[in-house]
Amino acid sequence: MLIDNHGRPINYLRLAVTDRCNLRCFYCMPEEGIQYLPKPHLLSYEEMIRLVSILAEMGISKVRITGGEPFLRRDIMPFLWKLSEIEGINKINITTNGVLTAPLVPELKKLGVSSVNLSLDSLDRQRFFEITRRDEFHKVWETLETLLAHDIPVKINTVVMSGKNDEDILSMVELAREQNVSVRFIEEMPFNGAGLRPDQIQDFWSYGRIMDLIRSVYPEIYRLQDEPNSTSYNYQIPNFKGSIGVIAAFSRTFCGTCNRIRVTPTGVFKTCLYDDGVFNIRDMMRQKLSDEQIKLLISEALQSRALDGFEAERNRKNLVSESMTTIGG
Ligand code: SAM
Repeated sequence: MLIDNHGRPINYLRLAVTDRCNLRCFYCMPEEGIQYLPKPHLLSYEEMIRLVSILAEMGISKVRITGGEPFLRRDIMPFLWKLSEIEGINKINITTNGVLTAPLVPELKKLGVSSVNLSLDSLDRQRFFEITRRDEFHKVWETLETLLAHDIPVKINTVVMSGKNDEDILSMVELAREQNVSVRFIEEMPFNGAGLRPDQIQDFWSYGRIMDLIRSVYPEIYRLQDEPNSTSYNYQIPNFKGSIGVIAAFSRTFCGTCNRIRVTPTGVFKTCLYDDGVFNIRDMMRQKLSDEQIKLLISEALQSRALDGFEAERNRKNLVSESMTTIGG
């Protein structure tokens, strides 16, 4: 088992398979998009399978596939099948914006995907358009309905932003009344491609503020026992089929139990979302390092892991400003 220098077991990889996205969420990317990298700069599927196999031998048992929008990468489904065959990997989760996902849901079910995180910031078509700069709400909704129809556990991720979708908070909560979904509100983070920091945003929606609003309408809401390594604080409203969660992604109150490592589409190995990368796995593979050499470097990297996202951010060479699509959320 992999254990970091602070005694935290590491068993979860977040692997971003592309930097491309078909939405332009204003809090993630500038309107004109970002400079996408030419394909040879990205990890190939063969390199990703090798990487996950190496990590599985080291004790990684869960993989989250993210991006960019993972379903934009050509031939993603054969890759997911291969991933599901790697010994030691017993959970594959996917984070998607749901635009292209609905037709693929039956196959995701067949290959045993454990859960899907669906990003959805508004239930109002016009506000969805204003936030994502694309008129695709109907496709995301179809994905939600298809996932539920196939009994794939769904978590809806909603970034809360003042003046943009604060009026959606309560209607998102209501989604959990009849649907068995976990609706999770996320604090906005500075990974927006522009360098704007949430603490400079007037009226920032912190974890506490989101919960105060929800509690004022549902005073009977109560705290659930969170799963170990949960990034969200989870709550239940009596008689609701689903649950409510809040992710203090900017306040970073969950780092103490962090069990995750990340690899970006270009192969940058990160031990914290807020760090600027430890080394590049793609380059190591292309320089023909052996599996054993790569394992050693990964183990070493975990022995100088930052205690939390604040320390990781302080240790960076540049301020956080990169778009989340280049890292993988
Ligand atoms: N395309 C997929 C999707 O939309 O779910 C996966 C990649 S996306 C970058 C992953 C998650 O990061 C989404 O839930 C998105 O809302 C979140 N995200 C992006 N930029 C963010 C920011 N600045 N603050 C908080 N969350 C952000």
